[in-house]
Amino acid sequence: MKQFLNFINGEFVATGKTFENRAPINNQVIGQVHEAGAAEVDAAVAAARAALGGEWGRMSVVKRTELLHAVADEINRRFDDFLAAELADTGKPRSLASHIDIPRGAANFKIFADIVKNVPTESFQMTTPDGGTAISYAMRTPLGVIAVVCPWNLPLLLMTWKVGPALACGNTVIVKPSEETPATATLLGEVMNSVGIPKGVYQVLHGFGPGSAGEFLTRHPGVDGITFTGETRTGEAIMAAAAKGVRPVSFELGGKNAGIVFADADFDAAVAGITRSAFENCGQVCLGTERVYVQRPIFERFVAALKARAEALKIGPSDEPGVGLGPLISAEHKAKVLSYYAKARAEGATVVTGGGEPPMHGAYAQGHFVQPTIWTGLPETSSVVREEVFGPCCHIAPFDTEEEAVRLANATDYGLATTVWTRDLGTAHRMAAAIEVGLCWINSWFLRDLRTAFGGAGASGIGREGGVHSLEFYTELRNVMIKI
Ligand code: NAD
Repeated sequence: MKQFLNFINGEFVATGKTFENRAPINNQVIGQVHEAGAAEVDAAVAAARAALGGEWGRMSVVKRTELLHAVADEINRRFDDFLAAELADTGKPRSLASHIDIPRGAANFKIFADIVKNVPTESFQMTTPDGGTAISYAMRTPLGVIAVVCPWNLPLLLMTWKVGPALACGNTVIVKPSEETPATATLLGEVMNSVGIPKGVYQVLHGFGPGSAGEFLTRHPGVDGITFTGETRTGEAIMAAAAKGVRPVSFELGGKNAGIVFADADFDAAVAGITRSAFENCGQVCLGTERVYVQRPIFERFVAALKARAEALKIGPSDEPGVGLGPLISAEHKAKVLSYYAKARAEGATVVTGGGEPPMHGAYAQGHFVQPTIWTGLPETSSVVREEVFGPCCHIAPFDTEEEAVRLANATDYGLATTVWTRDLGTAHRMAAAIEVGLCWINSWFLRDLRTAFGGAGASGIGREGGVHSLEFYTELRNVMIKI
């Protein structure tokens, strides 16, 4: 049985208290996770502060960024170990994790190392009241000890998306991975030691949120800032914890994203795009599309085409060839998604396809599989149209005009992402300007340039990550003025 230990001050640390790690494909116990308590949080914070004042804090940017390149190279060298760990924890298709989770998880170290090495700061010259000259220049200093609280849907990728820039900027990090996916964060501890990242720079504490490692870490006064990806209501709890000491937060939260398909769109490309945005990673993507609006002339044809695509998705475990849809993360999450499937029926939805559990055989019958599901006919007020389900499902409704599409898309407290399909450049630009989101994809979805800003408006988050935008959170900008 695998033991997932905490990683504190360069050492793997067991605790007296463990919880089970289960495989989503068959619900079998695959490991024991050692839960960190207040004492482990204290030890990690002390080590992180010591590292800031030690070799890491004194290290040149060039050396620091070289080390981060080495981290990425070592992840790639141990690609199969990381892939196996991520597949065991999430059950997602091997094709997906090997193309997105692991390579992007490694790339996050290189891209932010290169950005930090090359980014300029501003400088101004002015005439002073006495006729002399003053020069101002800005410098960036690390924020300090950063708590990194992570979700389970893209465990390595979303964690390194924060750890990469945080370390590149010279901070130290304490990662609290999701209790559902402890493996890759733990493995990264081995990588940090093997490439020579100093002790205390990268640490991992396992456990839950309230009354456990998550709460103890985010409440700890020795933590200087908190970066979090997860549910909006968890963000509210963390923000309350961060208020003590007025500590900054960076939040990537939930979404209830609209996809909009105009009648002039490249039909096949739009169907393929919405298939991905609704069902990829079994719908467990914050950027996913759970509300689809299709212009009336192509509505019936689009629903039929999406139904055919959904029904063609092969459901199964990570390693079965051709699998496009893995399981949900846990029994608890499966119960939540199925409860929305039941609500949709109760609220009068037409179930175009799916709506339940697929027939699975052998051990997989205990896995957390659900059918990809499409509904039509629900009012905009129904709970599956309003609330984030985070499963492989979407509701499709017709619209007539651009104005109506904008109104429907914006009728939510969230504001994370949208995907718009049209061949009309004017329509595309007007929609991009009118839909209140942090991320607007035109004729694409989840296409990423890591230099660009990533984040959500409204209840979907606070701040932007990506490219130089990550520096806003992970550094303090100091102005130096010199009177000549
Ligand atoms: P979650 O909020 O349940 O948990 C996320 C993390 O927070 C876990 O590590 C958990 O242990 C910890 N946590 C929970 N309560 C806490 C507390 N009170 N104090 C400190 N830590 C606490 O989210 P999840 O279920 O793991 O992830 C799914 C959610 O994440 C969805 O809402 C999804 O939209 C969102 N998400 C957003 C983005 C984005 O970039 N905007 C990306 C991925 C996922």
